[in-house]
Amino acid sequence: MFKKIIDINNENELHAFYRKLFFYKTYFFFFTKFYLPEDKEDTYNLAVLLTGLNIKNRRKRINYIIDVACRELDAYYNPKNLCQFKKAKCLLQRQKKEPYCNGCCHRCRYQSKEGCLTKNVACKLFYCSKALKN
Ligand code: SF4
Ligand code: SF4
Repeated sequence: MFKKIIDINNENELHAFYRKLFFYKTYFFFFTKFYLPEDKEDTYNLAVLLTGLNIKNRRKRINYIIDVACRELDAYYNPKNLCQFKKAKCLLQRQKKEPYCNGCCHRCRYQSKEGCLTKNVACKLFYCSKALKN
């Protein structure tokens, strides 16, 4: 494996790095491992990105990206409690006095007592206008 240090010192270098990302994912860098400089703070939060770049198997890399995206979305939205579930009914279902429960998931086959069985970024990004007012 070759070693490539990604040393970013300012916004311009960061944008230049982003522009090269497509190239870094190609076969030319299949045997290259990307690193941050040692003993330097990860100011631009690139560790996650470089970990993804270092996963050379495309399917495994996509799985990693989905895991990270879900983790970040959960960390951001869960504390906001936008849907305000109470006794399995969301804010909208309680207001409309609907007979269903589990909010947007009520018709989905992936719901379970332990919650969603999948990691679905699209679902995690969707909030109805009622929820967004919270
Ligand atoms: S997004 Fe709206 S409809 Fe869906 S669970 Fe939340 S409050 Fe209910
Ligand atoms: S995939 Fe998961 S989050 Fe999306 S609707 Fe189905 S159970 Fe709900």
